[in-house]
Amino acid sequence: MRKKIVAGNWKMNKTLDEAVALVSEVVNMISDEVTGDVDVVLCPPSIYLTTLKPYLEGQTRVALGAQNCHEKASGAYTGEVSAPMLKSIGVPYVILGHSERRQYFGETNAQLAEKVTSALANGLTPIFCCGESLEQRQTEVHLDFVRTQLTESLFHLSPEQFANIVIAYEPIWAIGTGLTATSEQAQEMHHILRQHLASHYGQEVADNTSILYGGSANEKNAAEIFARPDVDGGLIGGASLKSREFTNVVKARQ
Ligand code: PEP
Repeated sequence: MRKKIVAGNWKMNKTLDEAVALVSEVVNMISDEVTGDVDVVLCPPSIYLTTLKPYLEGQTRVALGAQNCHEKASGAYTGEVSAPMLKSIGVPYVILGHSERRQYFGETNAQLAEKVTSALANGLTPIFCCGESLEQRQTEVHLDFVRTQLTESLFHLSPEQFANIVIAYEPIWAIGTGLTATSEQAQEMHHILRQHLASHYGQEVADNTSILYGGSANEKNAAEIFARPDVDGGLIGGASLKSREFTNVVKARQ
């Protein structure tokens, strides 16, 4: 049985005080209101991870994640954070390949393959993002494009390694735009991605892989998207910055 997961990607938002307040509120609301089996992952800016960790003490359902890591373990890479560093502070998840990283920082499928390998070697669970642009969807190359993202960044992994991967399908045209994929569009892509995983790793591995939807998901539309059989949860941007709304999205998935 695959896991239900709702992850919040805070991106480059919140001061330290605001981050502490948001984590505290989310943790309280989740423990008071969420009874179902859903794993919650909070991904603040990495500078806050160590400070926020004690606020999650004793929580079985809420964990921390980073928004990125470098592919190398250490070295002269000014400004970067590595997978061993995240491991050393006890962070279990890392988002990799977010479209903003691909767009603004030039991350390629090949580089992401190395990041995935480094994350797994350090016991982190990558939340691997994929997704097409509007133009790619309009010219109907979106299915091949997203399949290739998976092939080139993940298919070097053994089935045992792959078992620790979470996938997030995030159509670029829906991220931060207020445009959401319809639940039919999300289901279609999630199903195709699962078939693609099955073609390489077999049906059992594909059936056990959590595939999250991301792209302007919020408390109003989450329940409909999550109701689709191949949608196992969400990667939430803007709506993860408000404790009430984020908790409502988590409740829609439980
Ligand atoms: C994201 O950046 O991962 C995301 C899904 O953002 P938003 O929910 O704001 O579209």
